[in-house]
Amino acid sequence: MSSFKSLNLLTPILEALEKKGYTGPTPIQEMSIPHLLNGGDILGIAQTGTGKTAAFSLPILNNLAIKKVKTKPARMRCLILTPTRELASQIEENIKFYGKGLSLSSAVVFGGVSPRPQIAKLSRGTDIIIATPGRLLDLMGDGHVLFEQLETFVLDEADRMLDMGFINDVKKVIAKLPKQRQTLLFSATMPQDIAELSKQLLKDPKRVEVTPESTTVEKIDQKINFLERGNKPLLLKSILKNKKVKHALVFTRTKHGANRVVQHLEKEGVVAAAIHGNKSQGAREKALNGFRSGKVRVLVATDIAARGIDVSSITHVINYDLPDDPKSYVHRIGRTARAGREGVAISFCDPTERKLLKDIEKCISYKIPVDESHEYHGVPAENRDMPNSRSLNQKKKNSGQSQRRKSSRNPSRRSTKKK
Ligand code: AMP
Repeated sequence: MSSFKSLNLLTPILEALEKKGYTGPTPIQEMSIPHLLNGGDILGIAQTGTGKTAAFSLPILNNLAIKKVKTKPARMRCLILTPTRELASQIEENIKFYGKGLSLSSAVVFGGVSPRPQIAKLSRGTDIIIATPGRLLDLMGDGHVLFEQLETFVLDEADRMLDMGFINDVKKVIAKLPKQRQTLLFSATMPQDIAELSKQLLKDPKRVEVTPESTTVEKIDQKINFLERGNKPLLLKSILKNKKVKHALVFTRTKHGANRVVQHLEKEGVVAAAIHGNKSQGAREKALNGFRSGKVRVLVATDIAARGIDVSSITHVINYDLPDDPKSYVHRIGRTARAGREGVAISFCDPTERKLLKDIEKCISYKIPVDESHEYHGVPAENRDMPNSRSLNQKKKNSGQSQRRKSSRNPSRRSTKKK
C-alpha cells in the first residue's frame, strides 16, 4: 500500500486525511488518484464502502485548488450527480472536510426542500456542486445553473440512477455539459444501458474495478433467527438489551412497518428514529444526524431510504423483515463492518420468509448460520399483529392468559419441546 503523501496531494488535504485517521489509500484510491490528478477520465466499478468518495473528491479538490479560477454567478467548476439526497449530503460533508484548508466553495442541490437557499448560493458561483438530477434540471430550466466553466463531471452510482428511473434526467443534464471536460463514472454494476452511456461519456478512460462485497461480507458475523412473526418486536427488544449493540440499523419491508417498530421501541425507552420516503427531508436529516452523532441508538429504515447510508460506527444490522430482492441483503448488511471495522448482521425469518432466505443464501453462495439460542426460537407467537407493548399488556390482562404465555417463553419448557 502506498501512502497519501506519495500520491502528491496538497498539504492541507494530507492534514485532513490524517485528522480522519486514514493511514493510507484504499485500493480504489490508489488506482484512481494519480490518473485523476493528471486529468484523465475514470470508469469506476465500485460501490459505497470502497472509499470511492475520497477517490474522486481528493483529486478534484487538489486540481481545483491548484488552478485558481473565479467562478461567475450560476457557474460551477465541478458537478457531481448522485441519486439520493442522503448521498449528496454525505458527499458534501466529505468534500468540506477534505477541503477545509483550500478555500473552495461547495453546494448541494436536491429536492424535498425549498429551492430558494440553493438558488441564492448558486447565484454567487460555486466551485463544486453535488446534485440529484431532478432538482438540478428544474434549476437549469429556470436559468440558475450554467455550465460553461465546468471542468469536471462525476456521475456517481450510475446503475442506481437507472434503477430509480433517473437516467433520462441524467442524460438531459449531460446534453448541456461542455464537451471539453474530465469525466468520472462510478457504478457498482455495469448493466447494458450504463455500459453504453459510459462509452458516450468517457474519453479513453482508465477502468478501475474493486469488489468489496465478498471481503466486506466475510467480515460480518451473520446469523439467522427463526421465529414466529408475532414475536419479532419481542426479539428485537431482547437483542437491544445487549449493551454490545451500540448502534443498530434495523430494516423493515414497509414504511408503515418502520414507524411501528420505532413506536414500539420508544415505548420500551429505546431512542429510535425512522427514515423512509414518507418522511420530510428535514425529518430524514434529523434522524440520520441523530444516528450519526450517537444520540439515536437505533435507526429503522426501508431499503430505498437506506441507500448509501454511510455511518461507519454501525455495529449491528438487523433485518426485521427479509428483503424481497436477495441483492438488497448484501447492501443492507454492508452498512456494518465499514472502514475496516467488524460487524454483526442478525436476520429475523418467520415461516412466510423461508423462501426469501433460500434465495438470499443462493445469491451469496453461503448458508447463514442459524442461532437457535435466542429467546424466541421455536416459541409460539405471542403477538400476532405486532401491537405495541401497552396493548399487549392490556390483552394479557383481559384474556387472563398471561401465565400461560409466560410459561411458553420459559427456556426449560422450550428445551423439552425441542427434544
Ligand atoms: P465510501 O466508499 O466513499 O462510501 O467510503 C466508505 C467509508 O470508508 C467511509 O466511512 C470513509 O470515511 C472511509 N474511508 C475512505 N477512505 C478511507 C481510507 N483511505 N482509510 C480508511 N477509511 C477510509
